[in-house]
Amino acid sequence: MAENYGKVYLVGSGPGDPELLTLKARRLNDTAEVIIYDQLPGKVILSSMPDSAEKIDAGKFAGKHTLTQNKINEAIVQQAKEGKMVVRLKGGDPYVFGRGGEEAEALVQEGIEFEIVPGITSAISVPAYAGIPVTHRESTSMVTFITGHEDPTKEESGLNWDALAKFEGTIVILMGVKMLRRNAEELIKNGKDSETPVALIERGTRPDQRVTVGTLASIADLAEERGVKAPAITVVGDVVRLHDILGEQLTGTEF
Ligand code: SAH
Repeated sequence: MAENYGKVYLVGSGPGDPELLTLKARRLNDTAEVIIYDQLPGKVILSSMPDSAEKIDAGKFAGKHTLTQNKINEAIVQQAKEGKMVVRLKGGDPYVFGRGGEEAEALVQEGIEFEIVPGITSAISVPAYAGIPVTHRESTSMVTFITGHEDPTKEESGLNWDALAKFEGTIVILMGVKMLRRNAEELIKNGKDSETPVALIERGTRPDQRVTVGTLASIADLAEERGVKAPAITVVGDVVRLHDILGEQLTGTEF
């Protein structure tokens, strides 16, 4: 490790409710010299970043997917090489579909010291706030997390729809709004019951959280009717029925 390099913290912000930020994330945000952030943490958390830190919106590097990620990696590396204490703030947990693994690899390659600060992933907490436990003794003891919108540079779908359709546990889909219809159709085509309950939870854990419940057969039409937008979590499986019983939990924090 070069002596004069700074250190990078890959920090998860949780799903948006500011009280779901960990104490460690709070402390690091408050003491960072530079914060390189995404929009996903949400307005409340982003507006609580201290004035003392230099803020860099990783979204400004937006462009072609892979190129964008390289630029973000370069920005993190560059800031650390200048000797700064860098927080790379990401929504949910940095290692759950957050490309945090790639950022960590870039840091290792450059000999920059880093720490990972796990966050509460939206994959579990967003269904929870919508009254949906991702596992339940009486309905399922398995859960899987998939991305509904794969890397567009990939030529073939990396998802094994046949295996997913046979999977008897809960399927939680992140980044699944755009491809919702195709994904629901793939599951049905590969043999999953079209009446399997599905929930779509938009802006989970935030005051304007919205839950849409349907079935594999109906969910894409419902989503269209209601104008469902990202960020949203899709939950497929019997646990969705618990939403009726366990209800919804909302936070009081206004945006
Ligand atoms: N690392 C993040 C996921 C990043 S991928 C995590 O662990 O939560 C981005 C996807 O996360 C979004 O497309 C959406 O599917 C999901 N997501 C993140 N926050 C969300 C929220 N508050 N409500 C609904 N979905 C959310």
